[in-house]
Amino acid sequence: GLMSQVVTRFAPSPTGYLHIGGARTALFSWAYAQNKGGKMLLRIEDTDRERSTEAAVVALVDGLKWLGLDWEGEPISQFGRAARHAEVAHELVKMGHAYYCYCSPAELDQMREEARAAGKPPRYNGYWRDRDPNEAPAGVAPVIRIKAPLSGDIVVDDHVQGKVVFKTENLDDFIILRSDGTPTYMHAVVVDDHDMGVTHIIRGDDHLTNAARQIVIYNAMGWTVPEMAHIPLIHGPDGAKLSKRHGALGVEAYRQMGYLPEALRNYLARLGWSHGDDEIFSTQQMVEWFSLEGLNKGAARFDFVKLENINGHY
Ligand code: GLU
Repeated sequence: GLMSQVVTRFAPSPTGYLHIGGARTALFSWAYAQNKGGKMLLRIEDTDRERSTEAAVVALVDGLKWLGLDWEGEPISQFGRAARHAEVAHELVKMGHAYYCYCSPAELDQMREEARAAGKPPRYNGYWRDRDPNEAPAGVAPVIRIKAPLSGDIVVDDHVQGKVVFKTENLDDFIILRSDGTPTYMHAVVVDDHDMGVTHIIRGDDHLTNAARQIVIYNAMGWTVPEMAHIPLIHGPDGAKLSKRHGALGVEAYRQMGYLPEALRNYLARLGWSHGDDEIFSTQQMVEWFSLEGLNKGAARFDFVKLENINGHY
């Protein structure tokens, strides 16, 4: 049959400027879609109402535009899809793959204590998993928990990390819908990626353990798990995770220093992706050569001197 179109997405949380790490994730998602004649979508993960700001949305959009990483259609607000997230959570309950949990904070604390005392990881013990909902205490708004598989492994078959096996004993029945009806991050991401038709998820490897939990939701809904590529985070010249003390982290700072978008694109591409010994290439060449197999398994180091050199070539 026809090959389906490649759909990637960039899914930033609007809590600050577009930083180097986010820009690189966006670049890879964009380049892969371009290489396959597909499209990239932009989803603003604004469900954290305390930390999300409109100014950050503007900064993200501006940064991406300056870098020339265009997406298809309007940016999608995750918060705007809350009703759909709740709908799917309730559907999972109807299907028998999720359930209402009425445990109080005190009960949850006690559960964790007991687990600790028994030398087990402090996790939810499935108290309401098979309990008669008629036993529910009056006046308590429940959360919805998904039934994590009790046996077998969850395998994240990743384009960068290989086959990563998660033991089901390390997965508890995690919350997908809070008692106020809002979705957890884990659940919202799955529902959105599915509904948006995302075929390939490219993101930082700090999301690798989330992937295992997300697969539990995909499987429960009977949805196809997208292809995944979890890229190692960027490190500073000293090998520690890139942070402010290493220097400017925001794309906007480089723009103001006079760096050219082509140069920054070229440099960001080299931070975790390689094509033979090529150091300097046009964006067109990058798009032509881009493949998930070219993504590096080791963490890249941000090197200001190299960036300076590359900028000089443009
Ligand atoms: N919003 C997440 C972040 O900013 C990304 C989520 C994802 O790519 O699945 O790290």
